[in-house]
Amino acid sequence: MEVSRTIPVKLDVPDERCVDLHRTISQFTHACNYTVQHGRNDEGLLILNKSTIHDEVYHDLRDETDLPANLCVRAYSKAVEAMKSTVADWKKGNSRPLPRFTELSAVYDKRTVTIKDRSATLSTINGRVAVDYVLGDYQKSYLDDEDYEKRMGTLHYREDEDAFYLHIVIKKEVEERDGDTVLGVDLNLKNVAVTSTGSFYDGGTLLWGQNHYFRVRRSLQHKGTRSAKQVLRRLSGRENRFVLNRLHTISRRIVEEADAHDCSYIAVEQLTHIRERMDNRNDRVKRQMHNWAFRELQEMLAYKAAEYGIRVEQIPPAFTSQTCSKCGQQSSTNRDSKTGWFECNDCGYSIDGDYNASKNIGLKLVTVPEGKSPSGLGDGHLALKSGTLNGNGEYTAYSDSEADRKSTDKPTTSVVGR
Ligand SMILES: [Zn+2]
Repeated sequence: MEVSRTIPVKLDVPDERCVDLHRTISQFTHACNYTVQHGRNDEGLLILNKSTIHDEVYHDLRDETDLPANLCVRAYSKAVEAMKSTVADWKKGNSRPLPRFTELSAVYDKRTVTIKDRSATLSTINGRVAVDYVLGDYQKSYLDDEDYEKRMGTLHYREDEDAFYLHIVIKKEVEERDGDTVLGVDLNLKNVAVTSTGSFYDGGTLLWGQNHYFRVRRSLQHKGTRSAKQVLRRLSGRENRFVLNRLHTISRRIVEEADAHDCSYIAVEQLTHIRERMDNRNDRVKRQMHNWAFRELQEMLAYKAAEYGIRVEQIPPAFTSQTCSKCGQQSSTNRDSKTGWFECNDCGYSIDGDYNASKNIGLKLVTVPEGKSPSGLGDGHLALKSGTLNGNGEYTAYSDSEADRKSTDKPTTSVVGR
């Protein structure tokens, strides 16, 4: 499978060339808007075909702007993509205005940017501009990885920092893992994530609207004044970064755990269900926060897992919280809704409710036959703390050496720091 990521890199631009980058970005944005205005056929309908739009606007863009040829092509291509999605929305009956570009960015491809490990050169309205990178360890680790192809990017100007960034798109081919071992993961509010191998990723009081930022945000929201709104915007940026940091750590640790247990799959619940399960219908702010955070977490999991060749599968979660992962008995009274503790009415199995659910989520992928909807593995294995379980309930313990390896650096119940 192809793994693709975008790495934002801050640029060190020579003072005298900043103006060239600014003008390039603003002319690029103008070219996008021009395409929306003038990319019409004889009946006045939007043109959604790239070669037709080329004939219609390319020469105008060359005349109207100082952009080099390939930046004109990228600008009308970007506009066409936006027009297509607008038209698709119209066809669904949604009213929506024509796309209008205000973002301070320009799209670069291999003809207009040369990306090296520590520097780049970018085409502009005034020749090429050479820039150095301002790098952290995170960016370095990707730029130094020779397996990644780095040929595209988007140039951004961030007003709040007065700085240019190149968002470098990196790509590599990763072989999907063979094997049928699954790590089950339950995502929830109490713990952020619990795995079938028995790790609890507790966000502490950092997440889910219990943190300092959230409380301040909510008290400000009631005021609704202009200055309150300004503070709010700054605050929510900080809060988002703060929460994202935690989610990055948690998703990375989950993927490392899947790797340590030789898993080829990670099973999680479908997002729609997580949304339904959140018991906060009368708290809009909190609900939005949860939705956003869970979506981010699942996306992070997917792309981090892909780097290891591990696939993330979404499982319909019906009854995963009320079913006994040991004997399969299902009852709404198995789980204490107040404490979240699970105790099977039938076999007496007593276990943390989220931990039990994580096993069920993994078991669904293991036991549902291939080709059935939703497709499962049919005869895979579920990774547990001390061994694996197959779809017939047969348990295989890890050998001592395996167990040693898998327990290395194993997270236990605790607040996860970065
Ligand atoms: Zn049971």
